[in-house]
Amino acid sequence: MNDVLRQFPAVHELLAASPFAALIEHYGRDAVVTSLRHELDQLRKMAQQGKDVTDLLATDHLGAAVNQHLINSTKPRLRPVINATGILLHTNLGRAPMAEAAVEAAAMAARGYLNLEIDLVTGKRSSRPDAVRPWLTKLMGCESATLVNNNAAATVIVLRALAQGREVIVSRGQLVEIGGSFRIPEIMAASGATLTEVGATNITRLSDYERAISDKTALLLRVHASNYRIVGHTETPSIKEMVQLGKGRGIPVVDDIGSGSLIDMSEWGLDDEPMPRASLKVGADLVLFSGDKLLGGPQCGIIAGRADLIEKIERDPLMRAFRVDKMTLAALEATLRLYLDPEKALDAIPLIKMLEIPLAVLQERAYLLARYLGNVPGLNVHVADTKAYVGGGTLPDRSVRSVALAIRSEHLSENDLALRLRMNEPAIMGRVEDGSVLLDLRTIPSEQDQAMLEAVQQALHDSPTR
Ligand SMILES: *Cc1c(COP(=O)(O)O)cnc(C)c1O
Repeated sequence: MNDVLRQFPAVHELLAASPFAALIEHYGRDAVVTSLRHELDQLRKMAQQGKDVTDLLATDHLGAAVNQHLINSTKPRLRPVINATGILLHTNLGRAPMAEAAVEAAAMAARGYLNLEIDLVTGKRSSRPDAVRPWLTKLMGCESATLVNNNAAATVIVLRALAQGREVIVSRGQLVEIGGSFRIPEIMAASGATLTEVGATNITRLSDYERAISDKTALLLRVHASNYRIVGHTETPSIKEMVQLGKGRGIPVVDDIGSGSLIDMSEWGLDDEPMPRASLKVGADLVLFSGDKLLGGPQCGIIAGRADLIEKIERDPLMRAFRVDKMTLAALEATLRLYLDPEKALDAIPLIKMLEIPLAVLQERAYLLARYLGNVPGLNVHVADTKAYVGGGTLPDRSVRSVALAIRSEHLSENDLALRLRMNEPAIMGRVEDGSVLLDLRTIPSEQDQAMLEAVQQALHDSPTR
């Protein structure tokens, strides 16, 4: 073994050899030396474990390995992913894919100058939300609207601007945590408002709110319990009842609905998802929701409702820290304009298209793909009935029927197969279940079928490269 270790070529000698000279020209000496040391360390470890590395130490082989290492280490860290998880709004995969018109608008904003804060008629300074305010008020039938970076920021700014140093009444059943670190009680503390909890986890009555109201009460807050559900004996007042109470006592009612949709999605089984328009119609003073959930736009938090409250919010100093960038603003405007004609929205917003596609169409596609993959040696494939989930802070039991290719390799474990698919370009994220990798078709646009077929075949005979 020591003989082998003694045989290891010296780095400075290798660098003079031809494959490395070419690599140095391309990547620079430092990068090549680092990669070469890394490769030699790996081989040394293998040799110490008693493996024969003689062939791997050949100059040509080392050159190829270092080349591959350099290619991989200079690749972008962010790469396109084919979402085969069946989760439509997958937060870790970037939530909603945007409509082509929104993508173009964001690129327009990125590429050149635009009237971000200039009124082109007067030539005077305008405010950033002015670009989307008219569309938002028209679509939701409200007085005014504004926006910040995400719905978490919307909650903070609303509580700060309207309830700092005062009390906000929330039902105990709505003190939720959303996405790891966003907890209503902590957000409340961070914004300087005092939380007044009322009711019990499963039951809160209007009278509970009524009794908690004092001269320190600034707001009644309803938080849509978006990512969990309490089943059994439950009761909470409707937003309409809360509004009646609030109006009687002169206290604004804020509805944090999380995943606001501008169109009725009950047809696809999403009948419990609150619509901002409906909340505003029954008199909620403000509604808050995300731009990149069921709206299918860019990440942002939309605040809509009473003009005097929106003005107060926009005057808060933190507004400057929470403001959206020009690409987000442009993408949101383009998305909202699609909703002006709901037919257009159905056709153009990827999220809605994925929800809307009939099961039979997905099944037909699945059988075609399975027949093709059935000819690949070493691969077992069958079509499985699945449930696709909306995800991204909509109810966890809200699913849509779907279909997946369940693939299994005769030689690779399901985890290795999943790894190889993730290392493909484009990466494919499936779901490992019962010894197979499931590729759910509801979240895969049919344009990506070809890339997916190629990736599966590649995965079976290539070794993955990170
Ligand atoms: C998702 C969600 C949020 C957080 O929204 P982000 O846009 O992710 O910051 C807040 N409240 C509710 C009810 C939600 O569902």
